[in-house]
Order: sequence, then C-alpha cells, then structure tokens
Amino acid sequence: MTPPTTDGAVSNKQAKKQRRREPPPDPAPLPGLVDAHTHLAACGGRDADAVRAILDHAESVGVGQVVTVADDMIDARWAIAAAEWDERAFAAVALHPTHAAELDDAARAELETMVTHPRVVAVGETGLDHYWPGRSEDCASPAVQEDAFRWHIDLAKRVGKPLMIHNREADRDLLDVLADEGAPETVIMHCFSGDRNVARECVERGYVLSFAGTVSFANAAELRVAAELVPDDQILVETDAPFLTPHPYRGQPNQSYCLPYTARSIAETRGVADTVMADLLGANARRVYQLPLR
Ligand SMILES: [Zn+2]
Ligand SMILES: [Zn+2]
Repeated sequence: MTPPTTDGAVSNKQAKKQRRREPPPDPAPLPGLVDAHTHLAACGGRDADAVRAILDHAESVGVGQVVTVADDMIDARWAIAAAEWDERAFAAVALHPTHAAELDDAARAELETMVTHPRVVAVGETGLDHYWPGRSEDCASPAVQEDAFRWHIDLAKRVGKPLMIHNREADRDLLDVLADEGAPETVIMHCFSGDRNVARECVERGYVLSFAGTVSFANAAELRVAAELVPDDQILVETDAPFLTPHPYRGQPNQSYCLPYTARSIAETRGVADTVMADLLGANARRVYQLPLR
C-alpha cells in the first residue's frame, strides 16, 4: 500500500525535479584548463552557434579548449563538424563499445578516413563496457566489443594518434586485451574509475588517467586515492558532459564550464594550489593531444 502523500513530500519531490533540470552556477574562473573529454553534440552543440555558445561559456571560466568525443558514426560526424566550426574544439572518433556491433565495413572505412583529419586528436572512445550487456538490448556483447576494441587499438597505432579508453566494470579484461594487442604510444583512460591497484598498473604502463566529476563524489574515497598516486605528467581532467556533473551538483546538467569544480577537487585531493593544478592539467592535455597553444 502506498501511504498518502503529504503536501510537504510533493513539494520536496518537485523541488528536487526542478533542481535536476537546472544547470549548476558558474564556478570561479580557473584559467589554463582543457576539457579532455566531452560530448558537445549531446550537450546541444549541433550547429556552429550552439557550439560557440558552449565554448564561450567554458572559456569565460578558464576552459579554453575541449576534446569532443563520438559515441557512434553520426556523433563522429558531429564531433568533426564542431572541430571545424570552432578552433577551441578538437575531435576524437570511434564506435563506443556499446555500439561495437555497428562496426561494419562501411564504418571501418569512414573511421579510417576520419582519423586522418587534422582536427581529430585521438581514437576514442573505445574499450570494454561490461555494465550494459544484459541491461540494454541494444548493447554489443562482450565478445563483439573485444573485436571492435582490438580493431581500434590497431587503428590508433596505424595513424599514430592517442587511444582514448572507455572502461566500465571491465578492468582486468581491458588491461589484458591492451597488453595482448600491444598498446599505442599514448593511452588515455577516460573517466578513470578503477581502484588504487588498477591505477598503479596503468601508471606503470605509462597510461594517462583522466578524472571526471566522479572523483568529487562523496562516496569516491578510493577513486581519490587513485587520483593522488598518479604522477604529475600522467593526469588529465574531463567533464564527460552532459553526464557525471561534479559534487555538489551531481545529477544536474553538465557542460565544459563545470570543469573547474572537478579540477579544484583534484587539487584539494593532491594538496596543491588550484592554479598550479590547472596549469599542470592544461599542459598535460595540450601535450597528450598535441593541441596548439592559444
Ligand atoms: Zn565513456
Ligand atoms: Zn564519454
């Protein structure tokens, strides 16, 4: 039986719903940052004006450049378009592991052409997602994901660009496939979510660990241990917008302008000044993706 709802409960629920739609306020500016992984099209950036508005907003709080990432072929075309529309945007293209079944001959041929585009700075996101199979009918099976992952690893090596990894609940399998296939020179673990042991193994292999808003969540103590042990030159910060909005705005819409919240959380975890951390994070992104200085 459902208990009768009181007025208080209703307005509480409505207030919560209302808050979920509201974008977080602007953080205090933190110059020098690069958003190492975002999805501009999913944030509404589907024409030149919308992309410019998102990037103007980001730039107003110190986020001067972003890497916008594709999930599927349509998204890959959006990502490249955004990078052509605005000099602050760069693209990464691949089929997300959940879309791995779409990697047919036509997709392979198109991706092979796309990755040679001068504004495409990485192959990604690719990897393994063991969360969605069985939960979503559309999600590729782990075996199909692994085949596609191996193809993307090889593609990154052929084109000489960084490999951007998506990993959800697949730590061991993912590291084993990478070792077996032979990793490209630069590997970026986007939205790093492993524990301290996985972090250490990635660091020893020379991979770059990119932290999203999840590192600021109240229940993320182990992730903060990981964020603390990464050497200065192997750490990045990202929004993964429109998802993973940092604390205390978890659940609200995310965009690149929210990046300073996460950068400050990382600075606090590592016990350094936010401006020092921002310089480091920005310099790492520009080095890893070989972005021009602005
Ligand atoms: Zn991802
Ligand atoms: Zn993403």
